[in-house]
Formats: sequence, C-alpha cells, structure tokens
Amino acid sequence: MKLLLIDLDDTLLKTKIFKEELFKFFSNKYNLSTDDIKNVYEKMKHSLSVTDWILEFSKELQKKSNTTMNYTTNDLKELDFIPNTQVISYINKSDAKKVVFSYGNTKLQKYKLDRMNILNLFDDIIITQGPKLSLLHSMKNGVRIKVRDQLFDDITVIDNDSSFLKKVNSMFPFIKTVDVTNLISSNKHE
Ligand SMILES: [Mg+2]
Repeated sequence: MKLLLIDLDDTLLKTKIFKEELFKFFSNKYNLSTDDIKNVYEKMKHSLSVTDWILEFSKELQKKSNTTMNYTTNDLKELDFIPNTQVISYINKSDAKKVVFSYGNTKLQKYKLDRMNILNLFDDIIITQGPKLSLLHSMKNGVRIKVRDQLFDDITVIDNDSSFLKKVNSMFPFIKTVDVTNLISSNKHE
C-alpha cells in the first residue's frame, strides 16, 4: 500500500505570502506596524494548543494597540490562500493514499486547506501539535507506517524542511523523501 504524507506550510500553501497578508491585515485593523505584528507573531507561533489561534493572536495585538476589536480565523475571508500548483500536480499524479501531515494549530490548518479549496484531494488530515518526527516514530511498525489502523509499506514524505527530511532519511531509511524546493527548481527546467 502506497502512502504520501504531505506537509502544509510552504509545501501545499504559499505560506510566506499568507503571512505577509496576515501581518498587513492586522496592521490595518490595529494600526500597528507590520514589524510590531511580526514580533508578537514570533512570540506566539508555538502556542498551538489554543482552539482559535487567530483569536489568541488578535487578543495579544489588542493589548498592544489599546483597542477592543477581536478577530477569529473566520474573519480572514479577505486574505488569499494560494496553493503551490507544482505540489498539487505532483500529488495529483500519484496513486498513493494522500494524507496531509502538518505541525500547527488544528483550526487554522484546516481553514487553510478549506480556503485553498483542496480538501477533496486528501484521504486524511493529520495535524500534530508536537514534532512531526515523534509522531512518525509512533506510527512506525517495522518497515511500515500505520495510519488509522492501515499499514503502508511504500511511503513518501513531501516537505519543504530539508533538515526534517534529512532526519527522516536517517531515522526511517525505508521512507522516500521529496524536497519541495527541488520539485520547484526541477520543474523550472522542464
Ligand atoms: Mg512546511
């Protein structure tokens, strides 16, 4: 059985663009500089266990700006969520079971997938609030990976984080890895 584990940020989604838009959005709402927003973001980015991360983020910005408005994930309607078409076409060509494999806030990650309008491409979504490497370790069963009681022996991980992929290569030699950066640059030469 074939399995494709696909990262979300900077793999499926052009997260850099999303973040820039998010900082601009809040900069307008709270009348703060994008650098101020960025600083709050850097402090908060690992507090993933909250229900609505955007709401928590906006509460912090509210304190900084002395305003009373709050925003939730559902208020991000005017923002663009641009998928990486090279990654989408790669996974469309694959006949493997396709599972989103992402580290982040559950509500926000699902919202991103929904806004990119690509939810129908996947068989499953796994969002972890701890290191992906540990989760992968817990899914390991010999030289196979278990996802919701199903065992896979032909596994590919696609991600933009080369140091994560290097660790996957050394800890799980039976897993194939695809670096998004190489996927994009190799497509450019076609
Ligand atoms: Mg990523």
